[in-house]
Amino acid sequence: MRPYILAETNWKEVNKTKFELAVLPWGATEAHNYHLPYGTDNFESDYLAANSAGLAWDKGAKVIVLPTLPFGVNTGQSDIYLDINLNPSTQFAILSDIIEVLNRQGIFKLMIFNSHGGNNWKSIVRELGLKYPKMFICVSNWYQSLDKKIYFDQPGDHADEMETSLMLYLKPELVLPKKDWGEGKEKKNKIKEFSEGWVWAERKWSQISEDTGIGNPKEATKEKGEHFFKDVCQKMAKLFVEICSADIKDLYE
Ligand SMILES: [Zn+2]
Repeated sequence: MRPYILAETNWKEVNKTKFELAVLPWGATEAHNYHLPYGTDNFESDYLAANSAGLAWDKGAKVIVLPTLPFGVNTGQSDIYLDINLNPSTQFAILSDIIEVLNRQGIFKLMIFNSHGGNNWKSIVRELGLKYPKMFICVSNWYQSLDKKIYFDQPGDHADEMETSLMLYLKPELVLPKKDWGEGKEKKNKIKEFSEGWVWAERKWSQISEDTGIGNPKEATKEKGEHFFKDVCQKMAKLFVEICSADIKDLYE
């Protein structure tokens, strides 16, 4: 029983602890190339958040990891079988209810531990921050916390070498054999400006990738996954400790 994982701990333990920071992992349920499980984003955030919180707890940080929200925004994957979409307005409603509990009970720091690129939190957090002025709400994207180029050979951002390596480390029994891995080849917009990052339209996923992956997983290994996992957790744990001890009324210098 880990006292920093809400789903595992109990009222006897919780009742005597004054928690400083709540961490809310938020993933998605979606196809990940041919070979990774639909719950990939959820497994990743489960393990990363729990491990990071454990390291922070050992340094005295009173952090509590809430259960992972398993559905994310998949509006661009509406024609991909069993990708389960949660609309941004539904995410707003869920997050609003969770923040209401934390705010009422005096846990004024919340981190959304985001694990899915399609989840957009800024406008939601701006609006809820206005509604709950005592709350400090932040969002982390663990997959952007380190320079992936240092750890992996092939670039990508969905079911790529990074995600395949992580899953080979965390849940190897759920990864199909290498002969089933698609190439994760991405088609780019014919209008070149869309690749420059300053003009955006939602991509219809089924039109940009045949196997649903973006990024070739072929050089993925368990060892690369382990190395990346441990480094992300170290960095995240340091952030948890810093947020726990920070005075949110005096953040800037
Ligand atoms: Zn993913």
